[in-house]
Amino acid sequence: MAKWVYLFKEGKAEMKNLLGGKGANLAEMTNLGLPIPQGFIVTTEACTDYYKSGKTVTEEIKGQIFEAMAKLEEEQGKKFGDTENPLLVSVRSGARASMPGMMDTILNLGLNDVAVEGFAKKTGNPRFAYDSYRRFIQMFSDVVMEMSKTFFEGILDEIKEEKGAQFDTDLTADDLKEVIAKYKAIYKEKMGEEFPQDPKVQLIEAITAVFRSWDNPRAIYYRRMNDIPGDWGTAVNIQTMVFGNMGDTSGTGVAFTRNPSTGEAKIYGEYLINAQGEDVVAGIRTPLPISKLEEDMPECYAEFMAIATKLENHYRDMQDMEFTIEDKTLYFLQTRNGKRTAPAALQIACDLVDEGKITPQEAIKRIEAKALDQLLHPAFDVAALKAGKVIGSALPASPGAAAGKVYFTAVDAKNAAEKGERVILVRLETSPEDIEGMHAAEGILTVRGGMTSHAAVVARGMGTACVSGCGAININEEAKVFTLGGETIVEGDYISLDGSTGNIYLGDIKTVEAEISGNFDRIMKWADEFRSLKVRTNADTPEDAANAIKFGAEGIGLCRTEHMFFEADRIPKIRKMILSKTVEAREEALNELIPFQRDDFKALYEVMEGRPVTIRFLDPPLHEFVPTEEEDIIALAKDMNLTVEEVKATCESLHEFNPMMGHRGCRLAVTYPEIARMQTRAVMEAAIAVKNEKGIDVVPEIMIPLVGEKRELKFVKDIVVETAEAVLAENNTEMVYHVGTMIEIPRAALLADEIAEEAEFFSFGTNDLTQMTFGFSRDDAGKFLEAYYTNKIYESDPFARLDQEGVGKLVQMAAEKGRATRPDIKLGICGEHGGDPSTVEFCHNIGLNYVSCSPFRVPIARLAAAQANLNNPR
Ligand code: PEP
Ligand code: MG
Repeated sequence: MAKWVYLFKEGKAEMKNLLGGKGANLAEMTNLGLPIPQGFIVTTEACTDYYKSGKTVTEEIKGQIFEAMAKLEEEQGKKFGDTENPLLVSVRSGARASMPGMMDTILNLGLNDVAVEGFAKKTGNPRFAYDSYRRFIQMFSDVVMEMSKTFFEGILDEIKEEKGAQFDTDLTADDLKEVIAKYKAIYKEKMGEEFPQDPKVQLIEAITAVFRSWDNPRAIYYRRMNDIPGDWGTAVNIQTMVFGNMGDTSGTGVAFTRNPSTGEAKIYGEYLINAQGEDVVAGIRTPLPISKLEEDMPECYAEFMAIATKLENHYRDMQDMEFTIEDKTLYFLQTRNGKRTAPAALQIACDLVDEGKITPQEAIKRIEAKALDQLLHPAFDVAALKAGKVIGSALPASPGAAAGKVYFTAVDAKNAAEKGERVILVRLETSPEDIEGMHAAEGILTVRGGMTSHAAVVARGMGTACVSGCGAININEEAKVFTLGGETIVEGDYISLDGSTGNIYLGDIKTVEAEISGNFDRIMKWADEFRSLKVRTNADTPEDAANAIKFGAEGIGLCRTEHMFFEADRIPKIRKMILSKTVEAREEALNELIPFQRDDFKALYEVMEGRPVTIRFLDPPLHEFVPTEEEDIIALAKDMNLTVEEVKATCESLHEFNPMMGHRGCRLAVTYPEIARMQTRAVMEAAIAVKNEKGIDVVPEIMIPLVGEKRELKFVKDIVVETAEAVLAENNTEMVYHVGTMIEIPRAALLADEIAEEAEFFSFGTNDLTQMTFGFSRDDAGKFLEAYYTNKIYESDPFARLDQEGVGKLVQMAAEKGRATRPDIKLGICGEHGGDPSTVEFCHNIGLNYVSCSPFRVPIARLAAAQANLNNPR
């Protein structure tokens, strides 16, 4: 028979997967001989069994729970539901990873109409006993039975008014008996049955509620944000109650062995005399700093400090502890590795290394890679944020905090920013034309679009906060107004965005600039020492590239050349090219673009100082470049000697039903080889110029997008090679250059061995590969993915975290096939997943050479790559 329930003394720290974090630590502390109120743990496997058994707790599991309860009763010398000295317990959830999204604690379970009498007798304090019972009824009804708190709060207020009581504490034991009677009556009315009097029924109901809470929407959301798998389940901890609210020699508190916001190596915490845990959390009374305990109860303080130090040394990490003092006796209720801000994480890691407690390798493994985001972007002022009103939330597309006035067009945003205003650009969706407005904005909010939409990709590249895909917004871009969360926002109104959580706030919330300490460089140096995977960046401008180098990028893995065509001096020329009717006319227009493109590449090569730069040829469907505004159409018609109608007709003819699967990528070079010719010339001429003028050796890497077939790649490659050779000959010089491809169409992955005959490198374009493998539009999937998370079909956004089971299989297979044909083939990833820690680990494990991600995620990727290598050395 499987073992579903463990007494604390039967477990240990290593059993975290089975007992959950809290349970395993309670077991470990018991084994260390610390003062822990005893209890037992229902395992995480019992939780998964609950779901497998159609959401029921099996008789076998119930049997083991009652057995453990009997042992606890014997040990404590108390009985569950006893009339003299009843055993009371707390019931708490405890998953492998701590999950604040889950169930609240239930305290005082085991009280009923009879046990409360026994409890009153035993404590000699009837008022306290009845108050505990009333709190239990309220907590059980709310947390376990999901009855609204307001019913109970209403009753309490009524009785307080009737009795002329100002505070809860003014109510007598008899008053509280009246409250209890009314509580029970409302319970019966709403639930259709009596409040459960059998403690065993209470217990099973509470345990079931914890299991159920594993799947509440908050928990599902938290798991998605923190990469916690849904099949882990939660354990349930049942622990004997001790009381911090038994008078002035009792109390309860929470403490950290080091400061969780700054990392300072000094105990940090608070406590309340004569209180239960919920009073500390509820914030009704102001807790005292932990140092005050030394004055109030010096012996307890000394013992507390000794145990705190012991725990930190034992776990070799900063501990977050809960304790209760019951009539001068100290108990620890839990300990865990404390959550901390990113600056604190770095400080603590460095201090622990300096104190000789951990190695640099351990320090690297402990820091959450994603948390580095916090260090590199502005954040909201904590106090100001507390006062802020959330009006909606959507995808956290690019981290950081931003506040400013709302503008609805890129031009308006740009103009306002030029006047010195802080701007939030709000758009239905962004397009490459919006680039300047996006640059000018502090933050970007879009109604449509997922994690790889234009807005998300570009904002991440620039390090600008972005919240995307907020379908709840009702927007009228023409009228310059939107509504969200019952608020109407017009141009010039202030809103604030948190690109790390996806929250949208009303008003102008104060932000604080990011500050990078010396610890950051130290940690990053260690990370670089321990990793084998290279980290490049996705950058299209010298500014972004320079930024990325500052963050440690070792090259450019993706330069999207189309972004270079949208500036005011280029767009008319590319439009002319698109509207050209003959090859000659097209070539003439392209010739006008060469100098721009060449200068762009030159600037990039100079900034990169010989580091590798992969230049990806034109990719988007051409309709993205054509004018939509009447004045632009007129200007273009004039420039090309065409009528406005002719221009409109050509633009219309570019319309596609599925542009993402349409005339884009290498298909453009197949139909218009002169585009590839122009881009190759620009790349080669820039490389030669940089070599001649600056002495920088460049090895151009030309990348052909959206390939699905070897002959298709060969067709374009032949054009590239022919042009490159011609340019070299014209310049009477030699230069090594590489031609490779993106693997972003499933067919390319399937036939990667053939494609590798032509490609010198592969870069996995996992944005498109995800889109085409799932058949989910990368721009629209957000509209329905939410329902997939709620229904547990998918656990995370496949556009943010690589779907290792499906898309990852294609990547791995293509990598193997590529290497089989060409053993020295260079393999990288340049989809947005390249900056996601779990994807970085995957790329390390399958032996890719590098990941490429937006500049601000480079440090995250460096750290994640080091962690991957420490876990699985290569
Ligand atoms: C990709 O598809 O993953 C990619 C990097 O290219 P883009 O996002 O430009 O389509
Ligand atoms: Mg792509």
